[in-house]
Amino acid sequence: MKIREILAQGRPTISFEVFPLKKEADYQSVEEAALKIAGLRPDFMSVTYGAGGGTSRYTVEIAARIQKERGVNALAHLTCVTSTREKVHSVLREMRENGIENVLALRGDIPADGRVETDYRYASELIREIRQTDPELCIGAACYPEGHVESVNKTADIEHLKEKVDAGCDFVTTQMFFDNNILYNYLYRIRERGITVPVLAGIMPVTNAKQIARICSMSGTYLPSRFKAIVDRFGDRPAAMQQAGIAYATEQIIDLIANGVNGIHIYSMNRPDVAERIRNSLSEIL
Ligand code: FAD
Repeated sequence: MKIREILAQGRPTISFEVFPLKKEADYQSVEEAALKIAGLRPDFMSVTYGAGGGTSRYTVEIAARIQKERGVNALAHLTCVTSTREKVHSVLREMRENGIENVLALRGDIPADGRVETDYRYASELIREIRQTDPELCIGAACYPEGHVESVNKTADIEHLKEKVDAGCDFVTTQMFFDNNILYNYLYRIRERGITVPVLAGIMPVTNAKQIARICSMSGTYLPSRFKAIVDRFGDRPAAMQQAGIAYATEQIIDLIANGVNGIHIYSMNRPDVAERIRNSLSEIL
């Protein structure tokens, strides 16, 4: 089923993300985690493409197994800045052959050595091309409530988001954020700019202190003082940090749904236990 059809139902939805790891030897553990998370019956699951240095080889394969073996709709990510046009089209073909109807079309990060291919510069170019090649495919894109790290300011970033929507994307998923007011403000601004597609709120349950330090240094995400106090107090006690991180994420989700944000996307970091605890604590809400 296409994600745009699920979102059009106008009810709260939950989705989980998994990512293939860098080492191919870890493939089996990721696949097991993905299938376990799929067993929680989310509305859909997404599988990243080479994110954080992970491998892109298995994205479609894992997405296809989630769909075929668990009957859960899959969203396969696809990046373009380090790909040739030929490579992009071979992945799209592989998706079609495996019955994947949803793609998250991304530029991808510029590698540290600066080596990129020249066929695509921005995600909007990829989106336009996918829409022309396969008018029926459901296409998602990324958005950044705090602004993308490379953009000069939020206004420019919102203009570029508008280009992605005009190129044919059906929904957008946000980068993680830890203060819901940032999302509410962003929603106001993008709606004012005429961006009306559904917005899925990306929520990261932080379960260890190191993880949060890494994330924030990479993306410049704002940490509210309430959240910092949790990391200060529980950061060196893994079980306590995990419990507090899940509770924080759950509270964020409840506030979002209460305020009419229906699409919740969890960066579940290949952790079925974390996904399950969040799912259970929302059992009557979803
Ligand atoms: P774009 O939309 O192309 O934007 C990139 C930058 O260029 C922005 O600063 C934008 O403002 C600017 N820009 C856009 N168009 C123009 C223009 N016409 N002129 C000038 N500037 C412009 N990475 C992975 O490698 N694999 C994944 O699976 C993955 N999944 C992700 C999922 C989500 C939900 C999110 C939020 C991010 C994900 N990423 C992933 C990270 C993403 O690839 C990076 O954030 C990347 O740096 C930007 O990708 P984009 O598609 O948002 O790029």
